[in-house]
Amino acid sequence: MSAPRHLLDCWTEVARRVRRAGKVALFADLDGTLARIRRRPEEVRLPPRIRALLGEIAANHVTVGIISGRGLEDLEARVGLEGIWYAGAHGYCLRDLSGRTRSWIGPTQETRMREVRQRLEGEIGALPGIRLEPKGPTVAVHYREAPRRSRELARAAIGQLLESHPRLHLLSGKKVWELLPASGVDKWEAIRRILRLERNRGSGGWLTFYLGDDTTDERVFDQMKGISIAVGKRRRTKARYFLDTTAEVRIFLEKFREVLWLRQPKSHSGS
Ligand SMILES: [Mg+2]
Repeated sequence: MSAPRHLLDCWTEVARRVRRAGKVALFADLDGTLARIRRRPEEVRLPPRIRALLGEIAANHVTVGIISGRGLEDLEARVGLEGIWYAGAHGYCLRDLSGRTRSWIGPTQETRMREVRQRLEGEIGALPGIRLEPKGPTVAVHYREAPRRSRELARAAIGQLLESHPRLHLLSGKKVWELLPASGVDKWEAIRRILRLERNRGSGGWLTFYLGDDTTDERVFDQMKGISIAVGKRRRTKARYFLDTTAEVRIFLEKFREVLWLRQPKSHSGS
């Protein structure tokens, strides 16, 4: 793992790659990446300037997608943009540019997750500071405000669930444990699906950007070949670049939009 470099320090070379690319895609996580983390997930808001920039970028022949652990409806309501892709529940649900929704959960998995939700509600739903959030195919156990005793009991209950449902998949994020129906569907799979569905968008290969801040984003950093960007203070990452804050993410989006503006005549003649 080589140390990531500050994206803005390398901007000249990244901008050159954007200008030369056949097709450009920009994917980003929401919480802690485009929007600052708040004490409660429902308080997280996308800054209006970031929303406007993403809209302008999408209008400039770029495939834009928000890839999140949030449920699809919640994610779309919080971002509030048309003309972009949404992947919710860590890639289990996908909504395309026309608003068509696809989901990758089968009947067996649905039954499994119903049982998981019921057991969690019964066993840890009333613990102080623990908050359960059903998100369609997945369920999140938030413990940001939980005292130690609650955290330990919640952890033990999840451990037992994982033993009785061997296919169940656990993701640990920032002050949250997420239970997924199975492994194999994740943010990287969601991105691959979107790129396949968008393959006719232009000619040439993809230059793909991905921004994320959490352990759940590391698989994307590990697998993708394009410009992977870790947001925040964490330096043990497989991302090639980093940005320190969501404020720097805004600066990056401003610069990205400028490069697209310079690139525009070329993509017109190419289409
Ligand atoms: Mg995040």
